[in-house]
Amino acid sequence: MQSAIIIGAGLSGLTAARKLHRSNWSVSLLEARDRVGGRIQTDGVDGFLLDHGFQVYLTGYKMAGQELDLPALKLGAFQAGALIQTNGKRYRVCDPLRAPWYLAPQHAIETMLAPIGSFADKWNIAKFRQRVCRADEVQMLGVQQVTARARLEQMGFSNLIIEKFFRPFFGGIFLDNSLSVSAGLMEFVFRTFSQGFAALPENGMQAIPDQFASSLPSQTIQLNTTVASVNEDHLVLANGEVRSADCILIATEEPTARRLLNSNTGLRKPLDAPVQCSSTSCLYFSVENPPIREATLVLNGDGDGVINNLCFPSFAQPTYAPVGRTLLSVSTVGQIEPNGEALLESVVDQLADWFGPSARSWQHLRTYRVPYALPNQSPEVLATRSEHARVSERVYRCGDYCESGSIEGAIQSGLKVADLIIRERESPTLA
Ligand SMILES: Cc1cc2nc3c(=O)[nH]c(=O)nc-3n(C[C@H](O)[C@H](O)[C@H](O)COP(=O)(O)OP(=O)(O)OC[C@H]3O[C@@H](n4cnc5c(N)ncnc54)[C@H](O)[C@@H]3O)c2cc1C
Repeated sequence: MQSAIIIGAGLSGLTAARKLHRSNWSVSLLEARDRVGGRIQTDGVDGFLLDHGFQVYLTGYKMAGQELDLPALKLGAFQAGALIQTNGKRYRVCDPLRAPWYLAPQHAIETMLAPIGSFADKWNIAKFRQRVCRADEVQMLGVQQVTARARLEQMGFSNLIIEKFFRPFFGGIFLDNSLSVSAGLMEFVFRTFSQGFAALPENGMQAIPDQFASSLPSQTIQLNTTVASVNEDHLVLANGEVRSADCILIATEEPTARRLLNSNTGLRKPLDAPVQCSSTSCLYFSVENPPIREATLVLNGDGDGVINNLCFPSFAQPTYAPVGRTLLSVSTVGQIEPNGEALLESVVDQLADWFGPSARSWQHLRTYRVPYALPNQSPEVLATRSEHARVSERVYRCGDYCESGSIEGAIQSGLKVADLIIRERESPTLA
């Protein structure tokens, strides 16, 4: 029986562990924290479910959909489309064909009349959706070398709709308000949104990695175990203990992967470009009388203040709040100064501006600051990234930064590297 040590029990490491375990490998999964999930974590606080940063599962994910037992997650979905907050009002932008039949005519009229771009822009969105749904992945990746903003301009969208809709929408997804992410990724995400719904599991986003972990034998995962350095045939834990296996898989976030790879001069170093990343903060509030009573994303169309987007997750998934309460999730994008109390004050001021003075009485539950949320996915950075999952004879790597900064990307990366390991190590002559 061949053996593997996997460093990091985020989605990519868990996926690889599961695949190797099913192929009869002896797997040891080492995780620095006290729980699995990496960037996907959920806390239970006073009857609320608080994810570490606003995250959603997209039912359009193909690979994740095959790997996960989706019915067991009991997903609750958001409505398609969004409300745009601009000039003191909220306007709907959505595809009326995706609304419940009894709302479709009303949503169609609201969308066409919204001062968020011209009629041509709205027609263009429908064409954009149709095109990405028909395109294959290769066609979308063909536009990797331009930014999302450049691509939207090429497609003829006006500055108005780019600023009021696309900037906060994709800014909230890629956690980058400049739309400098690769156009190929933007198209992939737009297609995924168009083919399904954004949804939350009944037990919080943490239920996704927990489901993977529960399919592994209990002794496979060792929590509170930090790896300090990696060598060709062994690794060293932070407590000085040495472990060895037939192969080692680094499944950490990109900056840690780089540090671990650079800890050994014997390894090829495919991660030479500087690490850049996207950051976010997420503030949660308990609300008694919510001003909006639907599971819809609200986007900041004015681009002012600290809030990029907000929503009431408990309308999509009622388990996110105790009975009689509504959970409000507010997200900022990028490294936001100031910190702590001053950030909370700025958010509350903006909420009061959008929803009236009653917003000042909403109870703040927690703030999560996520300095490393997503890898940088600009065309320049993607062009310099090595695609090699094998780093040296016996050391491999995986993670969202190898595919795309998403649940789908992390799962894809874990599956690909496990396939490669099995192929190379079980039939070395074929590799
Ligand atoms: C705020 C936020 C919002 C997001 N929104 C969405 C969304 O809506 N939809 C979506 O699809 N994706 C979203 N994502 C992205 C998605 O969560 C990630 O792409 C994915 O979870 C990354 O998984 P991973 O396995 O690559 O890395 P990680 O989850 O970062 O896992 C790496 C693991 O390695 C461990 N580790 C690190 N160093 C060591 C060490 N030295 N020794 C041992 N263990 C170590 C870490 O503790 C961690 O558990 C979001 C991410 C964030 C942070």
